[in-house]
Amino acid sequence: MKNLFKLFGIITLVAVIGFSFAACGDDNSAPPPPPPTHVHQWGDWVVTKAATCTENGEETRTCTIDATHKETEEIPKDTTAHDWGSWIQNIPATYTVDGQETRTCNLNALHKETRIVPQLIFTSISDFATWLAEQSDTTATAIPYYVKLNVSDLGGNSGDTGSAGNVLRTNNTKKVSLDLSGSTFTNIVNSAFNHCDSLRTIKIPDSVTSIGNSAFLGCTSLASVTIPDSVTSIGDSAFADCGSLTSVTIGSGVTSIGSYAFYGPSLTSVTFATGSNIADNNIPSSALPGNLKTAYSTGKAGTYTRTTGGDTWTKQ
Ligand SMILES: [Zn+2]
Ligand SMILES: [Zn+2]
Repeated sequence: MKNLFKLFGIITLVAVIGFSFAACGDDNSAPPPPPPTHVHQWGDWVVTKAATCTENGEETRTCTIDATHKETEEIPKDTTAHDWGSWIQNIPATYTVDGQETRTCNLNALHKETRIVPQLIFTSISDFATWLAEQSDTTATAIPYYVKLNVSDLGGNSGDTGSAGNVLRTNNTKKVSLDLSGSTFTNIVNSAFNHCDSLRTIKIPDSVTSIGNSAFLGCTSLASVTIPDSVTSIGDSAFADCGSLTSVTIGSGVTSIGSYAFYGPSLTSVTFATGSNIADNNIPSSALPGNLKTAYSTGKAGTYTRTTGGDTWTKQ
C-alpha cells in the first residue's frame, strides 16, 4: 500500500513536470517581442503618394532613433486635386461678347472647369501690345482676334515703336480684326499700318478726316475696307499692294484720292457712297484700277464691279 502511494506520487510528479515542459515548449515557439529600448521619436509625415481627385494618397513617418521604424497612413481622396489639361476656347472673346474657355481633368473627364475671357477692349496701345504678344499664332486657322481699340492717338508711322501699327507688325503671324470705332484721333498718319500682315479687317472711326500716304500699303491680309464719310482725303498708295483686298467702300466726304491709292489686281468691287462727287482732276489716273476712274466720272455714286479676269469696271 505504501508503495502504491509512492507510485502515484511519482506519476503525479512526472505529469506535472511533463506539463510544465509542455508549457515551457509553447513559450519557446512564440517568444514575446523584445521590450522596446526607446520611445519612438517620429519625424514629420512625408507624403509618398499625393491624394488626387480619384485616388487616396499615402504618407509615412520614420523614427529618428531607428530608421527601420516606420508608420504609414492613408491620405483621403482630395476632390480638388485635379490634373488639369490646358484651357480650350469654346467661345472666342470679341469686343462685344465675353469669351469662354474650358479645361478638363486628365484623371476624370467629367471634371471640368470653365472661365470667362473678358471682352477685348483696350484703351491704351501698350495694353493692346501686352495682350497681343501673349496670344498664339493664328495663321494656321486664320481666325482673327476681334479687338476694339479706343484711343485718342494711334501713334506715329512705321518707325514709331509705340504705334498701333507697330504692335500689329511685330505680331505679323497673327490675325487681328481691329475695330477703332470708339477712337477719337483724326488722322491715320503716313505709313501708320504699312505692311501690317496681321490686319484682317479694320473699322476706321468717324473721327478720321484723312488717310495718309502708304497708310495701309502692303497689308496683305486686309480683305475689305470701309472709308467713313468723315474722310476727305486718301493719300498716295494708301491701300496699294493689299493682295487680299477685294472690296472697298469710299465715303461720300472723300474729295481726293492719291496716286496708286488702290493699286493692285485684287479689287473686284468698289462702292462710292451716296452723295460721292469727287472731281476728275482730284483722281490721278493711277489712283483707281482699270477704267474705274472713267466709269466713275460719269456714274458717280454706286457700286462698280470688275469683269472676271478682265479690268473693265461697270456700274451695277
Ligand atoms: Zn523607434
Ligand atoms: Zn479631377
